[in-house]
Amino acid sequence: MKIVKIMKNMLPALALMPAVAMTARAAEDKDFNYHVDGFADIEVLRYEVPEFSTLPLNQKLMLYYLSEAAQWGRDIIWDQNGRYNLKIRHLLEGIYKNYSGSKESADYKAFEKYLKQVWFGNGIHHHYSTDKFVPEFGEEFLRAQIAALPDEALPLSKGETREQFVSTILPVIFDPEVMKKRVFQDGSQDVVVNSAGNLYGEGVTQAEVEAYFDAIKVPNDPTPISYGLNTRVVKEDGKIVEQTYHLDGLYGPAIAKIIYWLDKAKGVAENDAQKEYITKLIDFYITGDLKLFDEYSILWAEDTASDVDFVNGFIESYSDPLGMTGSYESYVNFKNREASERTETISSNAQWFEDHSPVDPRFKKDVVKGVSAKVITAAMLAGDAFPACAIGINLPNASWIRAAHGSKSVTLENITEAYAMANKGNGFNEEFVIDPETAKLLDDYLYITDMLHTDLHECLGHASGKLLPGVDPDALKENGSTLEEARADLFALYYLADPKLIELGVLSDPDAYKAEYYKYMLNGLMTQLNRIEPGKDVEEAHMRNRQLIAAWVLAHAGKGKNSAMELVKKNGKTYLKINDYGKVRKLIGDLLAEIQRIKSEGDYKAGNELVRKYAVKVDPKLHKEVLERYAKLNIPPYRGFVNPVYSLVLDDNGQVVDITLDYTESYADQMLRLSRDYSALTDF
Ligand code: ZN
Repeated sequence: MKIVKIMKNMLPALALMPAVAMTARAAEDKDFNYHVDGFADIEVLRYEVPEFSTLPLNQKLMLYYLSEAAQWGRDIIWDQNGRYNLKIRHLLEGIYKNYSGSKESADYKAFEKYLKQVWFGNGIHHHYSTDKFVPEFGEEFLRAQIAALPDEALPLSKGETREQFVSTILPVIFDPEVMKKRVFQDGSQDVVVNSAGNLYGEGVTQAEVEAYFDAIKVPNDPTPISYGLNTRVVKEDGKIVEQTYHLDGLYGPAIAKIIYWLDKAKGVAENDAQKEYITKLIDFYITGDLKLFDEYSILWAEDTASDVDFVNGFIESYSDPLGMTGSYESYVNFKNREASERTETISSNAQWFEDHSPVDPRFKKDVVKGVSAKVITAAMLAGDAFPACAIGINLPNASWIRAAHGSKSVTLENITEAYAMANKGNGFNEEFVIDPETAKLLDDYLYITDMLHTDLHECLGHASGKLLPGVDPDALKENGSTLEEARADLFALYYLADPKLIELGVLSDPDAYKAEYYKYMLNGLMTQLNRIEPGKDVEEAHMRNRQLIAAWVLAHAGKGKNSAMELVKKNGKTYLKINDYGKVRKLIGDLLAEIQRIKSEGDYKAGNELVRKYAVKVDPKLHKEVLERYAKLNIPPYRGFVNPVYSLVLDDNGQVVDITLDYTESYADQMLRLSRDYSALTDF
């Protein structure tokens, strides 16, 4: 599970950023420039990899090999996101490189913007809304550019003519009704048929997929495999079958490269435990056997001793409307030892938090197992985690593994810092925060409480609670992700206000939590609407979760001055006013108890009612107001990153003596280099 806090752009100027993070950053490079590129609703940043130069050579090598493995999976995510994505990327890049006309023309500028959007979405759909991008150049422009390309520069399928290619690809790019949405989630219609992603084949229906998996699932299996995690479900001769991602199967050429570099990494692994799980992962990639993936996941979750660590595989299932198939992603990282003390303190007290939560004791874990937590430095982002990435991750996802073997929870501190540093002085507080006292509260405490919120969400929130015996982990169906994120957020919010955090020494001021409460509720009620187009509903699970919590608390807060919180008008603008933070915390506890009950009992009906009532619909007037106020600030709603470029330093005998980092590559250069050097799937 991942925490995606793109609303990090609302962080204030960080007058009082915690000493640990700031000193590490300032010492590395005062003049580090976080801004790389901007287009459409996107800003591209770069992140620094502090301390890399101080690592021993073996760890540097390991990070390098894992980074190579990570990047070789790039084509997989492109293909998973849509069956024409690789063709389109190849075509657009061909035009971009061969273009000889005026670069000042409106068509060319629109073309360049579209290409940058497609790069960012790993395909023709927006990475977050999953809506298809709308090109602002004409069909005629593209036809002319295609005509100027020689046949060998076109991504033609076997036997495909130029004319066939053009008539296939143009509607995919231009027709708003063709492949409209990558992940279609409106449960009143067939979510498989209506989703444009490539996780299901042509002509496959939701009912057929559900019937297929119902038939092969072993009833009451205490250790079920993650069905469908690494497959595309297709219809062959009228029969539903799974095509498996593995060395000799779907995506084999990319997987072969991943295996090659994982094997190199194994050679410089830090210890035997790490060698063992890399071996398992390689075996999984060779065979596609999901039992091996579970064995790998257990070994990986139990390795808390290694400094260098990574995720590489088919992990998160947000891109599957049925929540089964994992998108390829990779995070390569190493431990930030100093900052990890904070999360270690929290996780070593996991049982105390579980025992004291405001949840019915029947739904609590008697023993919370191995909630390991650490703060990491990201060294490479790839697949679904690139260019947009999460700031916290908690894996593995299989609930029985989490219950029996624990999970690993990480906070990506250098990514969080990059967001925060890029935000300096963006005017957000002045526009949206109700008064100077509250703005000061945010200035003083938002950075630390935001990090702690992430820590608590990942280390404790997802790990807490249990299902009653016999309850299907998928019982909440299309609301499962939203309610799971809400559960973890509520757990984190509830405990942010607890004196226990002061006692543990991770917070110094008993009022600090108010900063996160104010920001969280403001975001859930108002400011996240900046990311929704007029007339649309809230769809993405993390956003639904935030609106669910904030709108539910507001609805139960009472009215007027005696309310816990209210929306008030000042000079014609809407502001959030929190009158009683203690009461807000009480409501958070109540909602946590109810959502844990829903999860533990598998109460689909109650969960669905909560989501429908609070999480989906948008007040059009307030929405319009938020968009107008945001527009004046010129803050891009979405952000992502380019990676640093790693280079081997060789001695006269060709031996690697060091690895260096370069941060100067532009966004377009990085994308073109990746396409040139890491194209594994060329069979269009
Ligand atoms: Zn989460």
